[in-house]
Amino acid sequence: MDILDEDSANEEYLFEKLRDSATVLDSGYHVYSALLRVFTSMDFPEDEAETIWKEIIEYKNSLSDQLKRDVGFRVAMLDYFINVNKKLSNPKLIEIRLFAETEKLVLVDELTRLYNRRHFQNSLQREFKQAKRYNLPLSLLIIDIDNFKKINDTYGHPKGDQILVSVATTIATNMRLEDTACRIGGEEFAVILPQTNEPSAMIAAQKLLENIRQIEFENEKVTVSGGIVSYPDKANSVEQLFDFADRALYFAKYSGKNRVIAYSPDKRGSLRFEANFELACKLTDKSFKTISKNISVTGLAFETTEHINLNDFMDVRLEDHLTGHLIEAKIKIVRKEITTNNTFHIGAEFIELGHHGKEILRTLSTR
Ligand code: GH3
Ligand code: MG
Ligand code: MG
Repeated sequence: MDILDEDSANEEYLFEKLRDSATVLDSGYHVYSALLRVFTSMDFPEDEAETIWKEIIEYKNSLSDQLKRDVGFRVAMLDYFINVNKKLSNPKLIEIRLFAETEKLVLVDELTRLYNRRHFQNSLQREFKQAKRYNLPLSLLIIDIDNFKKINDTYGHPKGDQILVSVATTIATNMRLEDTACRIGGEEFAVILPQTNEPSAMIAAQKLLENIRQIEFENEKVTVSGGIVSYPDKANSVEQLFDFADRALYFAKYSGKNRVIAYSPDKRGSLRFEANFELACKLTDKSFKTISKNISVTGLAFETTEHINLNDFMDVRLEDHLTGHLIEAKIKIVRKEITTNNTFHIGAEFIELGHHGKEILRTLSTR
């Protein structure tokens, strides 16, 4: 975009500059697909993009010969995509700066000026592909403000908004240029850290948390909790990156907040507590009752003589008659072992667990 801005009508100059960038930039940078994305907003793999680009230049020369004037590569590109390669069926012309501004508006969160959730998802996909292709590490940090509900309740929503902006600004100023900082929910943020392994991501996150603690606000400290996960060490897909960072974040919350925790698979069970709740289970074809053995924030274990299958989903009601706690949730069976007397030992994960249920389990597991 910057090169185009310098002298957009002078094609000779443009191509020279673009060729220079292509040779200067390392192989991780896809010059031709980046070019086509700038002009058409379409994504092509680099090798296809290079072929297309060269075809357009050739096409431009042949059009210019026939018309006996230089038609320019944009006109050639339009004709090429409509009549030759037919990738466009209903194009619209728009000044590129105007488009960039509009595009940015759609991707940026109005309050904090960080990228929004939509951009976060696309960005994470893109960075993950890149990391995988070039065998580079990639880390994801998810941050959630601690006790934000209380801040809102005590000082009002507008003050809450001010804190959101302060936290966002602190995140943005602490990150490297190549990191992507996003607001992915009400008081939740995410930072994508390319070419960063877990130890480096942890150092960056600790520094960030320290700076957030410095935010001045009504003599109170603003604190956040964070979860980190890294590819390829701990996660192997975009879904895992997000899921595991979220689990690490929950662990940070449940173990006392105001800290950042790196995901590790064995952390899952450590907040497990013994709980003999009455467990009413409902499958599509039958219902039964049993007693839970232990519960954690991610799942529970129980024994039953009923035949249930791995990967079954069940609606359950967990009830503690002693305290009156009642939790309704959807679970998925993830472990099944036969014990004596034809009894099955079942492990299940919470799939849907409302805010209320989480609150109860959080209190119980940290007490
Ligand atoms: P925890 O430490 O466990 O994260 O507790 P919490 O109170 O921060 O978390 P919870 O999810 O219970 O509450 C989040 C609150 O964030 C609820 C909602 O009122 C508030 N919130 C969400 N979006 C906005 C926003 O745009 N502005 C303001 N002021 N508040 C928001
Ligand atoms: Mg939250
Ligand atoms: Mg919160």
